[in-house]
Order: sequence, then C-alpha cells, then structure tokens
Amino acid sequence: MMDMQRFGDPNRFEISARWLEDREPRERLPKEYGWSMGELCIKVGGVILTEHRIHGRSQDAIQWYLGPVVSWMLKQWKWLMHEEAYVWPTRAGDSAAFTVTADLERYMGSDFPRDKEIYKRVKSWWIRHALRSADPSALYPHIFIRRVEDNIEVSWLDKQPEFAPTGFELSLNPGTALLAVDEVAAPLWDFLRWATSSARPATECDRTQVDALRTRLDSVLRSQPAELEAVHVTNEILNIIREGVQAGRWTPNRRALATPPVITGFDAPVLMFGGLNVDIGAHDARALFDVLIRQHQGHEHEQLNALVSSPSIYEYLQPYAHGYELAYQIRESLRIDPCTAFIDIEQLLTDLGITILETHLETSGIRGVAIAGQDFSPAIVINASHKFNSNSRGRRFTLAHEFCHILFDRSRARRLSHISGPWSSARVEKRANAFAAMFLATPHALEKALSTKDPREASTIKHLANKFEIGTAALLEHLRNLDLISDDDFQTISGYRHHPSSPMR
Ligand SMILES: [Zn+2]
Repeated sequence: MMDMQRFGDPNRFEISARWLEDREPRERLPKEYGWSMGELCIKVGGVILTEHRIHGRSQDAIQWYLGPVVSWMLKQWKWLMHEEAYVWPTRAGDSAAFTVTADLERYMGSDFPRDKEIYKRVKSWWIRHALRSADPSALYPHIFIRRVEDNIEVSWLDKQPEFAPTGFELSLNPGTALLAVDEVAAPLWDFLRWATSSARPATECDRTQVDALRTRLDSVLRSQPAELEAVHVTNEILNIIREGVQAGRWTPNRRALATPPVITGFDAPVLMFGGLNVDIGAHDARALFDVLIRQHQGHEHEQLNALVSSPSIYEYLQPYAHGYELAYQIRESLRIDPCTAFIDIEQLLTDLGITILETHLETSGIRGVAIAGQDFSPAIVINASHKFNSNSRGRRFTLAHEFCHILFDRSRARRLSHISGPWSSARVEKRANAFAAMFLATPHALEKALSTKDPREASTIKHLANKFEIGTAALLEHLRNLDLISDDDFQTISGYRHHPSSPMR
C-alpha cells in the first residue's frame, strides 16, 4: 500500500492523502470517480479534523473517493482563496461554519418568497466554501474555507455526516483558525497537483475524467492576479479602483504568487472595500478611496507603532472583557493616570500622528473608518452624516472606537482599512466599543466620581456623562458591565428604552 502523501505543516495546515486499491471490480463502482478510492486526512493547528471512530477503532484518515474533492477544489479555487463577504444580509460575527450553517437552517424551511431567494444565495455560497458540498454522500467533516482580509479562515463544526454508516462517528469539536494565505494555499495546491498527476484511471471513461481534472488544474494555474482579486470586491468598486489606476492616481500594490495561483496581499483599496456585506454607493467608495490615496506614502509615528499588536479576536474571553483589558494596557502605556476622568481623545490621537477627518457619507450605518499600516499615514474618518456623530460625545466615542481598530485589528501585513458598521464582525465591533468605553472612563475614575452619589439617580448619570464626555447609553452599559450598577438599576434608569442586549453605542 502506498504511504500517505503529506502536504503542509500539521501544526498549521496539513492535507494528506493516498490512493487505495478497490476490492470491488471497476464495473460495480460508480461511473463518476469510481476509480478514485483513497484516504484523506486534514490537520489544523495539530488537531486532526478527519479523526473518527469506526466500529470502536480510532482512525485519522477518512476512506472515500478523492475525485469529487479534487474536482470541487479546482472548480472553487478562486472563491475558496479570495471570497470573504457573504452575499445575503447576516450578522457576521462568527466563523463561516457557524454563520452559513445557521442561515441555511434558518431559511431552508421558510415559505416566504424573500426567504427562499435568500436561501438560494446562502446555498450558492455554501457550495463554494463547504467541503461537504464536494460530495454530500461522503463522510468528510463540515469544514469551511474562506478568505478573511489577508488570511485564510478554516472553520468547522462537530456535525456528523448525514448518511454516516452505523458505528461511524467524527471526533472533532467546533473550531476556527486564521492562517496565512500561503500556509493553506500551498499544501492544497500541492495536493491537487499530486492527485491529478498520480491518479490511476482504469477505463477509457476514467481517463477522460482525469484528463478533465488536469486541464482544469492548468487553467486555474493560468489565472491572472486581477481576476483572482476581483472575487473579493463588487464590480462597481472594482471599476472605481480601475478609474483611479487609469488616471495615474493609484498604483496597485497587491502581492501575488504564481504557484499556487493566489493573492497573498490584496491591493489596499480592495482590502478596504472587500469583505463588506453591504452595498457601498459610488459616492462613498470614491470619497474613501480618495482618503486612502491621500494617506498613502505617509508613515506612522514610532510611538504609535510601538502600541500596535494583533491579539486574536477568537480569544476565550468575552469581547467586552477583552476590549477592557486592551484599553487598560494602552492607558498604562500612554501613562494616563487611571483616575483621570476626562481624556482629550482628539489631542491624544493628533499627538500620535493620527489624522482626524470628517466627511458626509451616504451609506447608512458607516460610523467611522480607520486607515493605517505600512506606507500609510494613519487616519480616522468620522462620518458626519451618522446620527451617532452629531454631538461631541458621539464623536469622541467613535474616535476611541476607531483608535482600537488602528491598534489591534490590522491584517497579517499590519495593514488596516476598517469600515465600522453593522456589517463588520460583531466580535470586532464589540471589542472596539468596550475599548472605547474603558479608554474614556476607567472604573477607578468612575468610582471616584460616584463616591458621594447614588448611581441609580438620573442626575448622577447626567453628571457622569458630562464629566467624562461620554453618551449616556454607552455610559450605562459600561457601568453595568463593570458591576457599578445592577441589571435592575440599568433597566430602571434607562427606562426600558434600551434592550439589555443592544450594542453599546
Ligand atoms: Zn468598528
């Protein structure tokens, strides 16, 4: 029996496979890919995703036809490696495995025409990204692969295959990993190359199928970088970027590999507008692209650069607790006394070399935008049309929120162009909101301000809001998270106007 052929690093991403002799005669096997019996094993971060028990024995690799997997990966290659955004309205806080599976279930049974339409879109996305769509009769785990900024997200659930034989059980727990693009693309490509070159067709018909796979591999290899990148953004955005390039205002700065054919680092405007599950109008796209061009070729202050890091958003920590912790760290690094009540956030950002811009954007929901990274002078754009930014308290909160993105939400290449709104990852947004609240008001300062006052009095809340220059809704949520007021008090004071789980604003 041939050895498993291994591609990649099992502690990052590894795919391994081998062909098996089928004991059945060829004519009794499926016409399509019946020649391709083999074993497949996938490991991510040292976890064996294909591990399962069968008749009491534990196995790493799953035995099944490899042909459909190879065919699917080749067909979906550009989507697997470059598509991030969902093509239907959804809250995208979780991994693709969770989001897409939940939405499929939600819309599947519905009789409403609108829901049926959405279901079709969810299903088409699922076909492009879910391994199980390669072969619904196979026993593969529910693994999803998609692009997230300049990373590849691999996520999986613990759902058992629908048609599993008795005695078969996958062992995995749900999980998510964000990996560098080449850490996933290279092993997958090497696997595809191995599979297409070593396949052993038995009949003339089998040979045609293998030839078709080889032809497809060659054609994927000839994909142009611009074509691959186009998967990440809408055509409208792409045209606006092209106009900028043709007018000589922008030189694309994407990084691409020829083999495997992937974009490892998107062109900056593609990174900015890609992954957005919203239609940004042409006016706003142009306005934000202009800001990007304006900030390009700039640089970042040393002091700011020293504060930047990329803590995982999948920490085993509530996003609000994580945001609080990060705000504490930054206040300490900037030597701001924990008891200081009023923070002059505008001055502080300006001192760190962050430009503050204000513009009127049309897309409802955009609160602020943060731009930073190598070759860029950092900037925060405040959308003056957003009602939240209509007063100085709201603007201060937006500035602190975007400051969090600048510090902690950069891509692998330490680039950032984050557009804050309801379409952004809920975890990232919650973390930034908590950061903003804590950065503007620490419990030390709040407790000090509260020492002689009753926090349940409306006048106290007003007093605190004035003192810290922070909106009352955000302040109340913050006080509750800090256990400075109880859930009951929170509801009484806010007059039930705010749903307890509403995001902090
Ligand atoms: Zn945000």
